Amino acid sequence: MTGASRAAVEALKRRPCPGCGAIDPEVVFEQRFARIAAASLLAGYDVVVCRACGCGYADRIPPQSEFDAYYKELSKYEHQDSGGQESVQDRARFVDIAALIARHVPANSTRVLEVGCANGGLLASLRDLGLSEISGLEPSPYSAAAAARLFGLRVRTGTLSDELRDPQPFGMIVLVGVIEHLRDISPALGRVRSALVPNGRIYVEVPDATRFSEFLDAPFQQFSVEHVLFLSVASLERLLRRHGFTPVHQERLARSHTANSTMPVVAAVYQRSEETSAPITKDEATLPALRDYTTRSRAMDAGIQSAVDRVVAARTPIVVWGVGTHTTRLLQTSRLRQANIRAFIDSNSNCQGKDVDGIPILPPTALIGRPEPVLVSSRVFQSEIVAQIRDTLRCTNEIILLYPN
Ligand SMILES: [Zn+2]
Repeated sequence: MTGASRAAVEALKRRPCPGCGAIDPEVVFEQRFARIAAASLLAGYDVVVCRACGCGYADRIPPQSEFDAYYKELSKYEHQDSGGQESVQDRARFVDIAALIARHVPANSTRVLEVGCANGGLLASLRDLGLSEISGLEPSPYSAAAAARLFGLRVRTGTLSDELRDPQPFGMIVLVGVIEHLRDISPALGRVRSALVPNGRIYVEVPDATRFSEFLDAPFQQFSVEHVLFLSVASLERLLRRHGFTPVHQERLARSHTANSTMPVVAAVYQRSEETSAPITKDEATLPALRDYTTRSRAMDAGIQSAVDRVVAARTPIVVWGVGTHTTRLLQTSRLRQANIRAFIDSNSNCQGKDVDGIPILPPTALIGRPEPVLVSSRVFQSEIVAQIRDTLRCTNEIILLYPN
């Protein structure tokens, strides 16, 4: 780990626990990332668990305004390769979630808002079930436009840092994959609550931090650039009760995101309530679960470090495919930076044209005609990237994999 990255993280103050407000963190893991020039949100953070309430969260992180700017400029949910069309897995997931939400909506005319609606796939599934008063809020203007183009949906551009102004309150607000991204959770949940009718409900889905070990991705991948809360059923309940919501329905599920990626989640329906928060017991599950996850990640990481060492020792010029959490973590915590990297490739057009330490980030088509071997820096997308290199781009470059096929 370089001193600069450590210093950048340690310069940021500790923050109160999002679950209870205490400042009594137990550090479980120090996550660090290399910076992509002009496109980086974080140099890393401390993964901590609150000693008072047991909630897991990212500590020593920048202010909410930097997160908002990042999401606006660097949305990676646009699926530009496929014109905004969702994958088979996304489609099935949206149909499942829509069915669960529809069970907790009183009428087809209930006003439903989805915050962070991306390209509108879930809203379209809700409409398929007969819900008529649906709209979305989305930080990326490109995604908001895609939702209008693909599904004819009404989507405003904005985040939970803005007021959820609308002429009438909503009966249901949907927050799928949103809460774990929020640094300033209290004002955001306050805005959600005040945008609801008196007995209005929210549907929440967050990654289940107590099950990261059961669904191992690349090492430490769950401690991503974008996730700043590591919640369980118990911690989510404490957080939401504290902000004026009471539970209606809670379950633990696994959601497929790609053919090779399944995310454990907590899915929950909460109702706006006038009750003051009932005390609940401390979350005793998150700390041991995150410790187990870091232990397993470390063991897996040892094999990847060896693979990177071989690439460095060979001194062969290479191209690295991917500049997300997986690569920026490796650049900061392995010898990858010492490899003879001539270019990075990423399908996210927001990254293309930028650079990492002066090494350019190029679009996939730039691989055509290049001679270098390609190091595939992803676990979840490894097989898709190989297929793209061989079948779509028809390139015969040597491919270096970090994970078993
Ligand atoms: Zn706490």
